[in-house]
Amino acid sequence: MTMKNESIWNNYLKEKFLELNEDIECDILIIGGGIAGILSAYELSKSNKKIVLVERNKLFSGVTSKMTAKVTILEDILKKISDKDIDKYIKSQLEGLDLLKENILNNNIDCCFKENKSYLFTMKKSNIKKLKNIYEHLKNNKVKVKEANFKFNNIEALFAIEALGYEINPIKYLNGIRDSLTNVLIYENTSVDLVLKDDGIFTVKTNNKHEIKALKIIFATNYPYFLKPLLFPLKVHLEKSYIGYGDTESLNEGFNAINIDKEVHSIRFYNGKMIYLTGSSTISNKVNAIKNFNKIKESPLFKDISNLWSNMDIITNDSLPIIGEVLKDMYIITGFNTWGILSSHVGASLLASLILGKKKNLKYKELFNPKKKINLKKFLNSSLNVYDSINGYLKGLLNKNKMVFYSKDNAMYVAKDGKCYLVKRKCPHLKCNLIFNSVEKTWDCPCHGSRFDLYGNVISGPSKYNIKVKSVK
Ligand SMILES: Cc1cc2nc3c(=O)[nH]c(=O)nc-3n(C[C@H](O)[C@H](O)[C@H](O)COP(=O)(O)OP(=O)(O)OC[C@H]3O[C@@H](n4cnc5c(N)ncnc54)[C@H](O)[C@@H]3O)c2cc1C
Repeated sequence: MTMKNESIWNNYLKEKFLELNEDIECDILIIGGGIAGILSAYELSKSNKKIVLVERNKLFSGVTSKMTAKVTILEDILKKISDKDIDKYIKSQLEGLDLLKENILNNNIDCCFKENKSYLFTMKKSNIKKLKNIYEHLKNNKVKVKEANFKFNNIEALFAIEALGYEINPIKYLNGIRDSLTNVLIYENTSVDLVLKDDGIFTVKTNNKHEIKALKIIFATNYPYFLKPLLFPLKVHLEKSYIGYGDTESLNEGFNAINIDKEVHSIRFYNGKMIYLTGSSTISNKVNAIKNFNKIKESPLFKDISNLWSNMDIITNDSLPIIGEVLKDMYIITGFNTWGILSSHVGASLLASLILGKKKNLKYKELFNPKKKINLKKFLNSSLNVYDSINGYLKGLLNKNKMVFYSKDNAMYVAKDGKCYLVKRKCPHLKCNLIFNSVEKTWDCPCHGSRFDLYGNVISGPSKYNIKVKSVK
């Protein structure tokens, strides 16, 4: 079987909307068409406001199209959330489960939805206490959870818990949400380059030289690159993981499972095949994509692999999402710590209440508040992230690959068919040297995570701009 180096969900991405070709005005502008942006549009579309959403590529083609899409209350992130916040977070995720199911049923969305078993487990004696603590919190919050045995192939849990989980095709689900939005104007291939505010009105300039005037703005761009005054780079960092999809020795479709150990492994099934994730780390720690992909290829869990890809998400210092008002009339929804499905449902509902001035659904306002103060421990963590970015920068200088040639300002990849791709190698974001990811054929920034395709188009991360392609011969 030929292996594809792209997410299995790419098959379901379809361009549907034209790019912006005129100047327009609206009440609320949503920048970014991933799961967070489209669900925000969905919640706001229940009002009579004029809503516009702009997406720089195709809808859902960012982080959202590359997730594994496990839907469960048994998230590994629970191990990192403080005892003070965990109960409220669990409640928010339960609400997310309800909202997701309600949306699917209300809109009759065919997204391969089914209920299944979900496991959270440990293979380490030292983590049993931590998992038992999570178990107690779940039980206290009336989650139907029980102790269980978990064994799959060479993975055998020392302690495991089981609860209800859902299985969906995330892009089919979001396509269904998109199609229900008859009163939202959506533009694809439209990138926001600049946001200005004058007299209480935002003027947004796009790459295709048009302007959008808006009274309120939501940034659903995943990486919060635009908010320098709020020091987001010190509050968040990126984590990258590697994913494989293929046949297993034993067919078992009835579960998803995540361990709480380091390093994280997760398993789910789709269409009779397994989606397996591992190799999670900060972006600059393990920049060697080949080594990480080999880990998946060599895993005894697989009989055959048809797809391999990587993905990264925003990790926050307190492991809680960042959702709310950042500056007057400017809102943000991000920081999902690799658990974006349920939190973006809850977050979209929270933003709609904040923006429309409703008292309903404000329960998680403080928990997800973007203006929360950083405590000393969290500040030290962020210093490590800054160190990590510098480390990434140095690795960018030293990176070696037989098919890639670097000079001070340029880099060239020579493909197997002899085609040469010459690019300017500085990331437009903060000028780090890009590294070639020879598995997925992308130019990746090891400092802050921007990624560009072979033709220089930005596909994710903080860069607002493409990289210059000098030539393709
Ligand atoms: C390896 C991995 C596995 C995961 N698995 C799961 C899982 O099993 N379950 C789960 O719940 N979550 C999972 N997640 C998390 C989930 O994928 C993310 O949290 C979620 O997709 C983030 O959605 P988003 O809308 O914030 O970002 P995106 O999908 O990246 O959307 C942001 C959009 O904004 C656009 N954009 C950016 N800048 C501009 C601009 N200037 N102008 C216009 N548009 C712009 C981008 O093109 C992009 O489409 C996983 C994450 C990773 C990394």
